[in-house]
Amino acid sequence: MKKKYYKICTKCQYFSREEEKGRFCPICGEKLITRCRSCGEKIDNPYAEYCKICGAKYRNDENENEINNY
Ligand SMILES: [Zn+2]
Ligand SMILES: [Zn+2]
Repeated sequence: MKKKYYKICTKCQYFSREEEKGRFCPICGEKLITRCRSCGEKIDNPYAEYCKICGAKYRNDENENEINNY
């Protein structure tokens, strides 16, 4: 069975399939990520808040400045 991967918005709950076009969230304009920004693991659960491999948070907190330019 082939695994499905997703890209998720780093700000809101929006997500789409990895193979779909578009790099930015149509809801809030934030960048979409397809992998964990800490360990690079692909995202197979679009509802996850944290990476299951390294525990890093997928989404930025609202009052957190973007320090990661991945
Ligand atoms: Zn968004
Ligand atoms: Zn990770």
